Amino acid sequence: MDSLSFDAAGLIPVVTQDARTGAVLMQAWADRAAVQRTLETREATYWSRSRGEQWVKGATSGHTQQVVDVRLDCDGDSLLYRVEQTGPACHTGEYSCFHRPLLEGEPSGTGLDGTLERVYATIAERLATLPENSYVARLHAGGLDRVLKKISEEAGEVLLAAKNGDRAELATEAADLLFHTLFALAEVGVSPAEVAAVLQAREGRTGLRGPKEAG
Ligand code: AMP
Ligand code: ZN
Ligand code: ZN
Ligand code: ZN
Repeated sequence: MDSLSFDAAGLIPVVTQDARTGAVLMQAWADRAAVQRTLETREATYWSRSRGEQWVKGATSGHTQQVVDVRLDCDGDSLLYRVEQTGPACHTGEYSCFHRPLLEGEPSGTGLDGTLERVYATIAERLATLPENSYVARLHAGGLDRVLKKISEEAGEVLLAAKNGDRAELATEAADLLFHTLFALAEVGVSPAEVAAVLQAREGRTGLRGPKEAG
């Protein structure tokens, strides 16, 4: 607590991140008491500058933030709350407060990598907010077992399409397989970065045995 540097108003900016997805959810302010309360209760607590009072996120909306980690930046003048978010973080009903892009144009990373990252983030957002007509929300309601079965069905469809040399069908079925795999990752709370780390550890090495052969 001693290394925290508060501004003239006695406040420190807090960036809040979804610990499961890595998404930046919001930025708000905390005074010393709010930080103390956050550390003690693990409920994300801020100082509302507009209302001039301590603010426990979710107190009125129910969209609480369970704090899993609090970090201080290099020079001690800002904080990171890493949280498990219930529902949307933004009072507008959006998952993240940062939903207003100022740069026009294509989202960056139109390759498989960037696309998978975005689809994963969308799945995580839907899981957090469960909108009524969302396919992800429906998958979630059906239970993980059903999705796991779906993954093996999609794998079978990939296999058939490849066997038949049907290129368009193979692309579609591979997309289905990847999507449902991303869903399972999001449900269990494994980030794409963790999968990437496994792949990267194998990169540039030759003669690796596949998981089956390795046993
Ligand atoms: P809540 O803490 O979610 O119960 O919301 C209580 C009040 O805090 C809302 O009515 C908003 O005024 C404000 N608020 C909630 N979430 C945010 C946010 N992410 N950014 C800014 N203000 C918020
Ligand atoms: Zn700083
Ligand atoms: Zn907001
Ligand atoms: Zn399919």
